[in-house]
Amino acid sequence: NCKNPDDVIKAVKEYDVSFIQFWFVDVLGTLKSFQVTPSELDAAFDEGMGFDGSSIEGFSRIHESDMVAIPDPCTFQMVSWRPAEKPVARMFCDIKNPDLTPYEGDSRYVLKRVLKRAAEKGYDFFVGPELEFFLFEDSTAPKGIDVGGYFDAPPLDRANDIRRDIIFALNKMGIQVEYSHHEVAPSQHEIDLRYQEALKMADQAITYRVIVKEIARKHGCYATFMPKPLFGENGSGMHVHQSLFKNGKNAFYDPKGEFNLSSDGKSYIAGLLTHAKELTAVCNQWVNSYKRLVPGYEAPVYVAWARRNRSSLVRVPMYKPGKEEATRVELRSPDPACNLYLAFASMLAAGLEGMEAGYSLPAPVEEDIFEMNVQERAKHGIDSLPGSLHEAVNELSKSSVIREALGDHIFNKFVENKIIEWDNYRIQITEYELNKYLPVL
Ligand code: GLN
Ligand code: MG
Ligand code: MG
Ligand code: MG
Repeated sequence: NCKNPDDVIKAVKEYDVSFIQFWFVDVLGTLKSFQVTPSELDAAFDEGMGFDGSSIEGFSRIHESDMVAIPDPCTFQMVSWRPAEKPVARMFCDIKNPDLTPYEGDSRYVLKRVLKRAAEKGYDFFVGPELEFFLFEDSTAPKGIDVGGYFDAPPLDRANDIRRDIIFALNKMGIQVEYSHHEVAPSQHEIDLRYQEALKMADQAITYRVIVKEIARKHGCYATFMPKPLFGENGSGMHVHQSLFKNGKNAFYDPKGEFNLSSDGKSYIAGLLTHAKELTAVCNQWVNSYKRLVPGYEAPVYVAWARRNRSSLVRVPMYKPGKEEATRVELRSPDPACNLYLAFASMLAAGLEGMEAGYSLPAPVEEDIFEMNVQERAKHGIDSLPGSLHEAVNELSKSSVIREALGDHIFNKFVENKIIEWDNYRIQITEYELNKYLPVL
């Protein structure tokens, strides 16, 4: 049901739309938006709307700052959390240079380019992310609104009305939800989106983040996708279920293959594992992301795959008879505060690399890796994910696979930005240091 510009202009008249929000993201995945009046739409589809790119993180330098946003009519939706009277709509935009060629600083374009690389080989990339989040009283302190845990029902779960309103708001914008529940940590929640073609899903997941925050605000609390807000509790992850389809069939499934996996499926996983350390900075882009990737909180720390073991980085859910289309790979390291376009692009690029170069899949590790010592891990050939943003950026900066996926412009801007973030962090004197050292040194 993809709309064309004429459909959009018709819908805007029919619903008496007052403004159309034009959405795109900066290099960190932060949502940017400006509002356009209906009378400008026609021209916007033809020539785009100009804006100053030099004020957007990771965009152009001052002397080449004229950028153009062209709305993608397929993404037209009424904004479900705004008033029903004089309603507002939104479209995602593609960012162009003044001559209307694609702008290489546009994250959406990065994902489109990697998707095209897959499509040229006949593959469509589908993803199903599980975004977790916390609900706090406000944004000044991580004070939860309930003490529930995994799958707790009311009255322990005090957010079921909030999740219900979030799901209605998502559905109204054409976003399908599979299920939702209270998560392991107090006041932590999860709402899983039904798997979808990756570009559409990146747009939807960005919308999800906005809706979760807006609906929480209507209920008088604050929703956060910060990866690890509470010491000693689970952090918020974004497991990403991934599959490739070829001619409408799941390309990871082979009834005769070991684990019911095709050779494409196996080498895709091998690609994810081989390049896992390189793509970590993209999927876990904040200093705080690395407080989540530690032993003991259901987040991965080691580079291994398994079918049941949830401590591993990649899990292949057990095959259910008759459900071959559901054959998929779950990458468990990403967190929901990443740039969705760059994260999906990096995963796919790593998987494709594995397929193109014919990487072979190591044996699954079903034992608890957290119980193993260094020697046992070495014996199994199990490597560790980067332990900090600093290590992760080091790994990323050496990666030709991710550089190619992101393109030089975004790759360089991203690395530059993250080196500055690390430098700002490493000179801080923390609560921990003051408590530990001041009384004794
Ligand atoms: N919150 C965990 C993480 O950080 C996941 C827990 C779960 O989904 N069971 O990834
Ligand atoms: Mg889940
Ligand atoms: Mg979960
Ligand atoms: Mg999961």
